[in-house]
Amino acid sequence: MPQADKEYDVIIIGGGPAGLAAALYTARDRYSTLILEKNGLPGGQIMLTEHVENYPGYQKISGFELVEQMKAQVASFGAETAIGKAANAIRRRDDGKLEVDVNNGELTYVGRSVIVSPGSDYRNLDIPGETEMRQATRVSYCATCDGAFYRGKHILAIGGGNTAAEDTVYLATRFIDKITMIHRRTEFRAEKVLVEELYAAADEHNIDIKLPYVPVEIVATEDGKDIDHVKIRNVDTDQIEELHVDGVFVFVGMNPNTNWLQGVLDIDEGGYIKADPVTMKTCVPGVFAAGDCRCQAAMQLATATADGVVAAMQLREYFRDPSSWSSSMCDQSGQGW
Ligand code: NAP
Repeated sequence: MPQADKEYDVIIIGGGPAGLAAALYTARDRYSTLILEKNGLPGGQIMLTEHVENYPGYQKISGFELVEQMKAQVASFGAETAIGKAANAIRRRDDGKLEVDVNNGELTYVGRSVIVSPGSDYRNLDIPGETEMRQATRVSYCATCDGAFYRGKHILAIGGGNTAAEDTVYLATRFIDKITMIHRRTEFRAEKVLVEELYAAADEHNIDIKLPYVPVEIVATEDGKDIDHVKIRNVDTDQIEELHVDGVFVFVGMNPNTNWLQGVLDIDEGGYIKADPVTMKTCVPGVFAAGDCRCQAAMQLATATADGVVAAMQLREYFRDPSSWSSSMCDQSGQGW
């Protein structure tokens, strides 16, 4: 059982793939390892994915099953997991060790180092039908993960940022028969070059770009298994249209779970933790960031686990010589607390 009065070599905040991969390595290195997971089950976003086809070694596996295997593997090497423990503060003690408060100070855990891997959540549309059709696997937030399931189909893509522009072209050129794309403004947020590529692909690959439109409701078929149509509204005219599509791809951004770290670690304007992309080191000695919470993260299962592994391996170096900590993300003035 995890103990608040026991000191750990490493405390891992977040039990998604990045945290679990880090724990696998630290536990195999015989470092006492505690994973703090805010939810009732570890696993993070990937738990919501029905079919994972892009994780090496598995032709097809559910996110749930994959996480079950990762959890068992990690536990077999002695890593402990405390569930229902939301970290809300990190600070350094006078003796140099790190304290992590959970559940608004209900408990405090002590570690020699911390790997922060709280993940990111996909931003939702917050419209009727989204949750139900997400559960029915007809609403997706990840083109790389789910594009292949819509081969030859008609889908609606929503958003106007880089992800929307890039992933719509990715889907259109590889799998999808027809894409209707909507964005809430007449101007894209995406970089110009990506918008040019989008329009260049539109004719050849059957992409219908409609501006400015917002989604209003995703209406299910009577049996609740498929999408019947999506209601979209023209922002200029207020007119509602019904689109008969097989799936919806939501590309409206991400929310990294880092609000509680504002003022504690260096966070960029999007809420992502600034960490050295080669070493996962933050500006604070002994504190690493790994996975989708890290700025420049590739937001993939395989890269999240890779981040966790890198952080765990760098941890060895840190324990060997704590005074050698340096991160390319720190400014000239040196290091954090
Ligand atoms: P993003 O840049 O935050 O764009 C989100 C888009 O979704 C915006 O166009 C926004 O509209 C729209 N949106 C937000 N909430 C919405 C809602 N409720 N309903 C309808 N539309 C909504 O997110 P992202 O495209 O995922 O990119 C995230 C970060 O990753 C960015 O920094 C981006 O540059 C980076 N990225 C880079 C690359 C690359 O360099 N190749 C590729 C992908 C992502 P508004 O524009 O009106 O706000």
